[in-house]
Amino acid sequence: MTFYDIKQKYNTFNFEKYIANVSDEMVKNSIQKESLDEMDFLNLLSPKTLNYIEDIAQKAHEISLKHFGKSILLYAPLYVSNFCINNCVYCSFSTSNNIKREVLSFGEIEENCKIISGYGIRHILLVTGESNVKTPLDYLKKCIEILKKYFDGVDMELYPLDENGYKTLANAGVDGLTIYQETYNENLYKILHTKGAKADYKYRLETCERAGAANFRNLNVGALLGLNDFVSEIFFAGAHAKHLQKKFPSAEIGMSFPRLRPAMGTYHPKTIITNKNLIQAICAVRLFINRINVTVSTRESNNLRNNLIPLGITKMSAASSTEVGGYTKKEHFDGQFEVNDIATVEEVKEMIYQKGYQPVMKDWTIL
Ligand code: SF4
Repeated sequence: MTFYDIKQKYNTFNFEKYIANVSDEMVKNSIQKESLDEMDFLNLLSPKTLNYIEDIAQKAHEISLKHFGKSILLYAPLYVSNFCINNCVYCSFSTSNNIKREVLSFGEIEENCKIISGYGIRHILLVTGESNVKTPLDYLKKCIEILKKYFDGVDMELYPLDENGYKTLANAGVDGLTIYQETYNENLYKILHTKGAKADYKYRLETCERAGAANFRNLNVGALLGLNDFVSEIFFAGAHAKHLQKKFPSAEIGMSFPRLRPAMGTYHPKTIITNKNLIQAICAVRLFINRINVTVSTRESNNLRNNLIPLGITKMSAASSTEVGGYTKKEHFDGQFEVNDIATVEEVKEMIYQKGYQPVMKDWTIL
């Protein structure tokens, strides 16, 4: 059974009605529980929980310490292409946007790798726009070969593949996959993704399960926050992560909480996810799934990232560029979105030390 099948049981569930009836007692009870079910998780996403934000933050902190100690893995993204066949209205790389398009040559990838690894980064996230013509599997395999010379951990954020495609990448040395469902609301998804392979909601939702079946070691999911209401999106993303953890017990499951950032075009978020909501979401997920990686990227400000650390952040990007080959560029063009935290790797490390935590550059070695 895939998560798509599981999600069907919520087709007639009225989130607004349920949330409106969550009481103080229900919230307090869910915070205290050792093992939370889906309704407890939903209680913690209700506005009532904002009255207990310190209690939930304290519990999230304790659980995080128990499972992860005080360490935070640093990584950097490397964008290798911004060609994309899809038309996501909220993204600068949409096929309808008139931007300079490029695919990095292998020499350019090597140059970027030298710079990023020179910062001390040992884990890399390779990112592409979604075009299997401009960045086919053979190209990606060669990219991985280069990345493995410089980094100990290689994750990818790319267009969805079938299981054989993921097996090919796993055999080439890829450890993990990050793929966001963007919105878990199937009707809204169809409105926002009208063109290209991404228009297939079910195929995208089942992507991590194909990668899990191909033995990927890390699987990371999330919703793009701002596209739809906060409660149902975090609820389904958390339920999705929990499903993956049960189905692939040997994989590390992670969740990201990307909030929409300004990008080229005229799209404006449907809802504003406040800092308080973000904190609530991260804590609720930590209570619902104790052992889950939580990633915060440079979409968020340095100050906020600093304050989120004790709540159970386990991975952070640093010194990120969202431009294709952005680490070697002298002139800057359109990135996928605007980065918020422009601190250097050394500055991010210092911030983590100041919090009493340990920045980890390498938690995995490729044999
Ligand atoms: S969000 Fe992804 S699929 Fe959509 S336009 Fe941007 S790069 Fe392409």
